[in-house]
Amino acid sequence: MVVGGGPVGLLVAAELAGRGVGVLVLESREAASERPKATTLHARTAQSLARRGYRLGERGHGSGGPVGAEFHFAGMPGLNITVPSTEPGPIVKIEQSEVERLFAERARATGVRVLRGHQVTRVVQEGDMVRVAARRADGSSATFTSGYLVGADGARSTVREQQRIESDTWDATVSALMGRVRLRDPGAVLPGWHRTARGWVAVKDLLDGRVHLRTLSDRPCGGDRHTPPTVEELSQEVSWITGREVAMEEPQWLSRFSDFSRLVRTYRAGRVFLAGDAAHVHFPIGGQGLSTGLLDAVNLGWKLAHAVQDTAGPGLLDSYDEERRPAARRVIDNTQAQVALMRVDPALAPLQELLGGMLASGTGSEYLGPLISAQDTVLPGRLPGGAGSPWEGRFLENIALVTEDGPTEVIDLLQEGRFLLLLAGGGDAAERYVREAGPWARELRVVRVPASGPEAGPGPGQEPGQELGAAASGEGLPCESLLVRPDGYIAWEPGAGCLREALSVYLGAARHPVEPEPAGYR
Ligand SMILES: Cc1cc2nc3c(=O)[nH]c(=O)nc-3n(C[C@H](O)[C@H](O)[C@H](O)COP(=O)(O)OP(=O)(O)OC[C@H]3O[C@@H](n4cnc5c(N)ncnc54)[C@H](O)[C@@H]3O)c2cc1C
Repeated sequence: MVVGGGPVGLLVAAELAGRGVGVLVLESREAASERPKATTLHARTAQSLARRGYRLGERGHGSGGPVGAEFHFAGMPGLNITVPSTEPGPIVKIEQSEVERLFAERARATGVRVLRGHQVTRVVQEGDMVRVAARRADGSSATFTSGYLVGADGARSTVREQQRIESDTWDATVSALMGRVRLRDPGAVLPGWHRTARGWVAVKDLLDGRVHLRTLSDRPCGGDRHTPPTVEELSQEVSWITGREVAMEEPQWLSRFSDFSRLVRTYRAGRVFLAGDAAHVHFPIGGQGLSTGLLDAVNLGWKLAHAVQDTAGPGLLDSYDEERRPAARRVIDNTQAQVALMRVDPALAPLQELLGGMLASGTGSEYLGPLISAQDTVLPGRLPGGAGSPWEGRFLENIALVTEDGPTEVIDLLQEGRFLLLLAGGGDAAERYVREAGPWARELRVVRVPASGPEAGPGPGQEPGQELGAAASGEGLPCESLLVRPDGYIAWEPGAGCLREALSVYLGAARHPVEPEPAGYR
């Protein structure tokens, strides 16, 4: 059962259902929200979603070096985010409502049952079940039970509250307003980011002649956070920050927010998991909230499916918290750093100038680009022998491969959502790995990449002449033999110890008898 049919809830539901798990989503709203929120998805999210079969942004064709896109850090231009030329991105511009529609379609297609107009009010764990009470839109109530529950019910999560999951929180230090309005004088504030001695105003033109306005200032906001803002309040705030009268009308989607931040102390309480804004919130600078939540969903989906189907290794469900909570912490830290840098305090000017210089020279992007786009993610090692491996926990970049079945790419090989055993070396070692993996064959896809395969032709969906870089071999793979997780991270390579041990860490005890280990094999 998933509580919350926002983008994160729908994605995790579709991930589960796509693996044959029956899923019910309970959503309080009667209809999907059209409220403008996220408009940016970052590179690792687009890359992970591509491996799950979502086409967001054009995938490159592998000729030439990395592809870059201009972004900002704390409102300062010059942040260049790069991706390998075989990946989608680097930055996908897409409205959150559109993202939600994509996941809703997949959820429907995979058989997820979505009950709208069901507000969850109570969540209780009893033995090996989770029992939920919900209030329907007509005032009646209903109860539901499930083996596991995912709380993807947003920043004010009822699931989090009901399960008494504690959080670390950081109080608000700035106030922000947002809205879509028509400016009486279109020249009063021009599109772009404006920094003044009192704060920030960001302006974006919209197709209907309105503008999308966002403000940021250190002074407390006019109303308390539960009072809906008015167009007069937005107009006063923009006028105060810019120092000139900015009159506006025809408001849409006015909202207020702040840099209040929260990170739960655990993503798991027994059979209950939190994902997305239910687990982490921060100031929406740099477009990272939804991106982070969707990565939670991708990480949790396959693990929970294995647990439901009784094919999970002993610590697999706990690894969700171990892998995703530190990632959210890094996002909270960098958003707090950005808010600090955006303050109008003149004492910060030298620091702002210094960082601006680093961004302009390119050195800032080397560190900040992978951080903001989450491409610097390296998962904590899970294998006893993994300390010796430079590859365990790293994301396997999309490369072209010519397998026994013809030309393909890493992204395409992961579409089934199973583990991938990639064997490029051939010979005795490959045969041994296939034998060792035999007991887990149902959860694995074994793909052999002959050292010199058939003549390389265009891959699926490619025009002749658009082939990816690598030719008829596993050229470009970091190791000859690799076990790749369904989310695209490397689970094992020979330097990380024994394949059999790796498979049992992830997938539990072998289902069928395993042949004894040959002497000398570690
Ligand atoms: C102004 C703004 C701009 C942003 N820009 C970006 C951006 O560019 N990029 C980015 O990555 N992120 C951005 N974000 C953040 C992003 O919008 C959120 O991170 C995202 O909405 C989180 O998705 P979610 O599914 O976790 O939660 P939500 O979208 O909040 O969905 C939660 C769902 O749960 C439902 N629900 C709540 N309580 C219950 C209950 N008790 N019972 C049943 N259902 C319930 C709600 O109705 C809702 O549908 C922005 C946020 C804001 C405010």
